[in-house]
Amino acid sequence: MELQKDSPKEECGVLGIFAPGEDVARMAFFGLFALQHRGQEAAGLAVSDGQVIRLQKDVGLVSQVFDPQTISKMEGNYAIGHTRYSTTGSPSARNAQPFMIDTQYGTISLAHNGNLLNAAELRTQLMQQGVGMSSTSDTEVMIMTLACSKGDTWFDRIRDAIQHWVGAYSLVLLTRDQVFAVRDPWGFRPLSVGMLPNGGGHVAASEFGALRTLGCVACREVLPGEIVSLSDKALTVYQALKPQSETALCTFEHIYFSRPDNTWGGRNIHQVRQQLGSNLAKEWPVEADVVIPIPDSSIPAAIGYANESGIPYNDGFIKNRYIGRTFIEPTDSLRKQGVALKYNVIMENVQNKRVVMVDDSIVRGNTTGPLIQLLKQAGAKEVHVRITCPPIMYPCYMGVDMGTREELIAAKSTTPEICQLVSADSLAFLSLQNMMAAIGTDKGYCNACFTGRYPLPVPVGITKNGFELPIETQQGAAKL
Ligand code: SF4
Repeated sequence: MELQKDSPKEECGVLGIFAPGEDVARMAFFGLFALQHRGQEAAGLAVSDGQVIRLQKDVGLVSQVFDPQTISKMEGNYAIGHTRYSTTGSPSARNAQPFMIDTQYGTISLAHNGNLLNAAELRTQLMQQGVGMSSTSDTEVMIMTLACSKGDTWFDRIRDAIQHWVGAYSLVLLTRDQVFAVRDPWGFRPLSVGMLPNGGGHVAASEFGALRTLGCVACREVLPGEIVSLSDKALTVYQALKPQSETALCTFEHIYFSRPDNTWGGRNIHQVRQQLGSNLAKEWPVEADVVIPIPDSSIPAAIGYANESGIPYNDGFIKNRYIGRTFIEPTDSLRKQGVALKYNVIMENVQNKRVVMVDDSIVRGNTTGPLIQLLKQAGAKEVHVRITCPPIMYPCYMGVDMGTREELIAAKSTTPEICQLVSADSLAFLSLQNMMAAIGTDKGYCNACFTGRYPLPVPVGITKNGFELPIETQQGAAKL
C-alpha cells in the first residue's frame, strides 16, 4: 500500500565504499540509511573481501532488508549499496539492486540511479547475441553491456560500455577488488565522492549527507562524464565522456528529492527552498493569517514564504513518519481515510484562520484535495495553495516516476480547473523564471517536465514497465 504524498517519486540512492581495515558492510548499512529517502521499495548491498562478492537485497526498507546476522556475514573492504524506487521495471524483488553477475573477467556488481533511454534497443541487441535477461530493469542491461565490453581492465571496459549508453546514470560498480563511480555526461542525477579521515579510503554516494554521515572530508561531485576509481590514496579520476556543452541537472533535486543538508549544483538545498518560498510570496501574495508547510520537504519554502510575506509561520500538519510504505493492506474503512492515515491537523493552529498551504509540487493531484479537506474540517476559513515549482505537464524519462502525460493533472487541466477540483480558495504555481532565480542560474538544469524541452531525444513509447509489456521503440522518431 502506498501512502506517499503526491510529489514526484524518487529515483534511487547509490553508495560505494572502499575502506581498508574497516567493517565496510556496517558502514554501508548506515550510509544507506542516510539515502533511505531516495527510495523505499527495495534495498541491497554487495560486499567484496577481495576474493568473493556477497550480495543481500530484497524489497523493503533498509531496516527490513538487513539485520545484524546478515551484516556480520558480509565481510570485506569494498562495497556498493542501493535504495530503490522503480523507474524502469516493476517494484519486485527481481528488480532490486545491486545486480551481480559472473563474467569472463570475474564477478561484478552494479547499482544505478537514473534511466537509460536506449535500454530497450540495447536489450534487444544483447538478446540477439544470446545474452539472457532475468529482470525488467535497465540496470541489468547496463551490467550485461559491461560484461560484453572490450578492454584489458575494468576501467577500459567501463569506458567502452558507456559509449553505448544514452540517458541518465549515476552508478557504482563493484569488482572483486575495485569500486568505481560513474556519471553520465549530462549530469542528470547526483553523485559525489568524499575521503574517509586519515587516509582510510573513499566513499561515493548520491548525496553529501551520506558522505558526512560516514565522516567523509574533502567531498566533491563526480563531474558529468567522469569515471572515478575509489582508493585508499588519491582518487583516480578520468574524464571518459566529454560533458555536454550544457549540463542537465535535475531541478527536482532542489525542489523535492534531496535532503535539505545536501548541496546540488553548488547550492545548499535548504537555502534554495527558502528562496523558492520567498519568490513565491513575491509572485503570488495573498491575505492570510498563517503559513503552513506540507511536511517535510515544504518546510523551508513555507518559512521563506512567511518571512517574505510577514504572515506568521506555524505547523498545520503532523506527519506520521513511521507509516511510510507498508506491506500491510489497510481495512476498507481505513483506506477511505486516505491521507488522514498519514497526516493529522493541529486544529488549534488553523481553526478560523485563512491558511496559506505551501507544497513543493502537484503531480497527479490526488492528495492536495484531501489535505485541503482536512484543513477545512479542522475549521480553516480559507485555504490558499502555493506551489514552489511550475505546473508539471510533461513526463520524465530520466529516472523520475512521471511516466505519462495522462497521469499529470496539469497536462489535462488549467490552474483554475485544478483549483476547483481540489476545492482550494486559490491556487498558484511559481513561474519557471522565479524558480530558476531561486536556484541562482538559468543554465545547466533540466526543466523538461515543465517545458517539454528534453535535453536529449526521447524514444517514442518508452514506459516504466516497458520490458514487461514489450514496446516498439522508434529511436529518434520523436525528437522533442
Ligand atoms: S524532466 Fe523533470 S524530473 Fe526529470 S530530470 Fe528533468 S527536471 Fe528532473
